[in-house]
Amino acid sequence: MSNNTSEQIQPITGAIAAPTKFVIQAEYQGFPVVVECTGKADILKSTIDRLMSIGATPPAQRTTTASAATAGDSSAPPKCRIHHVPMKPSRKPGNFFCPKKDGQHYCAETVKV
Ligand SMILES: [Zn+2]
Repeated sequence: MSNNTSEQIQPITGAIAAPTKFVIQAEYQGFPVVVECTGKADILKSTIDRLMSIGATPPAQRTTTASAATAGDSSAPPKCRIHHVPMKPSRKPGNFFCPKKDGQHYCAETVKV
């Protein structure tokens, strides 16, 4: 009488699906907020729904605001490595020059963005 059917139930180690951690960045009343939640994708949706319902906004929404009148779409001009001043946009788009003068000559530092 031999019984070969082994019905050992082995506990699955290391195969437990770890819950996903979500980090949501938002803004509420102008303040940056970081919300962390752990779970499946539906908890991400419900957390965002709750954030939206209280009036929070995603941080990316505030990029296109009023003061887009200045030339170029880059947020801040590069700085001169020598003088550490903000560089001015050249007539060539994407080029910046340093407005500082060393004696007779303008600083030779230029940056192409
Ligand atoms: Zn310079």
